[in-house]
Amino acid sequence: MELSNTIKKLRGPGAGVLNEMILLPVMKSKMGMADVLLVLSCLNIKPPSDSLMQKEMNLMSDKATTVNEDEMCQKQHYVSRILTLSGKDNSADVQFDTSFSCRPQGGAEKAKQSFAPLIEHNTSKKFVLAASIFSKFCNKKACTHENCSKTLASDKTISSTERNSLHTNLNSVLKRRVLKIRSVTIDASSQVAKALRDYNIENKSL
Ligand SMILES: [Zn+2]
Repeated sequence: MELSNTIKKLRGPGAGVLNEMILLPVMKSKMGMADVLLVLSCLNIKPPSDSLMQKEMNLMSDKATTVNEDEMCQKQHYVSRILTLSGKDNSADVQFDTSFSCRPQGGAEKAKQSFAPLIEHNTSKKFVLAASIFSKFCNKKACTHENCSKTLASDKTISSTERNSLHTNLNSVLKRRVLKIRSVTIDASSQVAKALRDYNIENKSL
């Protein structure tokens, strides 16, 4: 690949491909933006500016979200097809759990983010059918929290997101009308019973 290759932008001159590619490790590995800048500096390469990278990163995250949504929809179609071909009805067995960026502990809440995927176990592939993320991060000084990275109010606890996540995930599968859910396997979490109850009530009215 030529180092001088550019890609078209909606506005302005084309951007250097490398400037965009440098964002991939930030998204796909545990490296943060600061780490990428450090690596570049150590290699004696002038890194792009912080603010530029952050701006590009935000754009790329939106794209990644769309790609992931499409991917999960495709997986639902795939599982549905496998079930139908094997002569079963079109309802999947799923597993669900929440991981926290830092485990909530008694007395103090350190975790600021939670990630909760819904995974099928009808095929050997264990595809992710839906996922939901809650975050308490926002670094804007005067933020009205519209179109903000923060998806959880400050007064809510991050551990309470487990219930919301399950509910969101089940609904996102249901909404597509590709696949039904037959069973949900979870570790014993007292909040989840309510999520399932809510889901069943909504389900009946459809
Ligand atoms: Zn905000």
